Amino acid sequence: CGIVGYVGSQQAAPLLLEGLARLEHRGYDSAGVAVTGPSGVRVAKRAGRVRDLSEGLPKRFAGKLGIGHTRWATHGPATDANAHPHTDATGAVAVVHNGIIDNAAVLRQRLTDDGVELSSDTDTEVFAHLVGRSTADTLEGKVVEALAAVEGTYGLAVVHADFPDRIVVARNGSPLIVGVGEKEMFVASDLAAIVRHTTTVAHLEDGELATVTAGGFTTFRQDLTRSATTATTLDVDP
Ligand code: GLU
Repeated sequence: CGIVGYVGSQQAAPLLLEGLARLEHRGYDSAGVAVTGPSGVRVAKRAGRVRDLSEGLPKRFAGKLGIGHTRWATHGPATDANAHPHTDATGAVAVVHNGIIDNAAVLRQRLTDDGVELSSDTDTEVFAHLVGRSTADTLEGKVVEALAAVEGTYGLAVVHADFPDRIVVARNGSPLIVGVGEKEMFVASDLAAIVRHTTTVAHLEDGELATVTAGGFTTFRQDLTRSATTATTLDVDP
């Protein structure tokens, strides 16, 4: 339902929680965040309100890069386990996703046959496992490989402990924007999540991805060739 992401010089968790609170008007049943810090990717998620998530969040959820999500359940009930972010078997990968993966049942079966233990009922979790199992040597390559197996709609954001400087995002049928700040960058499904921090945004097109680091962003297509989407400054009243 709602996505927010941050990479920069500030602590990510408070900014993510603030962004999620600003997405509350969209409606949701669960919320969660993943933050990449010194000890890898840490996830906190639960069914219920963003406020409940904030209160339960460990004080030292340190890290300057992270992603967050408010969920509107399509596959599986509103439970803590089904809340996003979803992780792969190692916990290195975390994914938030808006939309519906149509071939999730087939992909789940394939993973289960391979001995993967799934920990949720969601369509999204399969994507985290596909990224985690990819042998591509860049995060962009892993995400593209995982997307090649997926049919359906998505706005999604991926973080990986082995690539701690970046968020990779992708869009197909569900909005995804990149917000440009001063030595910090944002991602969101909705301008409302980040408008207090920046109104300079790039709107991804369907089939497009972006790599977002503290210093900027680059957009590319699913064949890993660069695309030309740029950021423009919107005339809105934050
Ligand atoms: N299909 C996903 C799920 O049920 C994402 C739903 C959403 O867009 O929030 O978890």
